[in-house]
Amino acid sequence: MRKQPVLEKYVVARIMKALKQQGGVVVRKRHGTAMGVAGDPDLYGSIRGRHFEIEVKRPDDPGSIPTELQAHRMQEWRAADALVGIARSVEDALAILDVSVPDSEQEALK
Ligand SMILES: [Mg+2]
Repeated sequence: MRKQPVLEKYVVARIMKALKQQGGVVVRKRHGTAMGVAGDPDLYGSIRGRHFEIEVKRPDDPGSIPTELQAHRMQEWRAADALVGIARSVEDALAILDVSVPDSEQEALK
């Protein structure tokens, strides 16, 4: 039987849970609505005074890359000195935010 691909929403949920466990972090999921700006990243928030923007993509899928518009939006945030990146895992998200995880907790992120 073929392995089921991991859905982006699953990765989003894992990342949000992990970030909420960090001190000094507020994280929010952006919902695509007519009121939003098209192409803005999936997650945004603040970590100890730094604004961050995270575009979440499916793991194990090289074809899952940002659209041109998403790349443009990320560049806008980066130019404004936000912490910005693409995350396919909790580890990726923590690296974008420059959060180091003790070795003893690494396994829990897998
Ligand atoms: Mg996404």
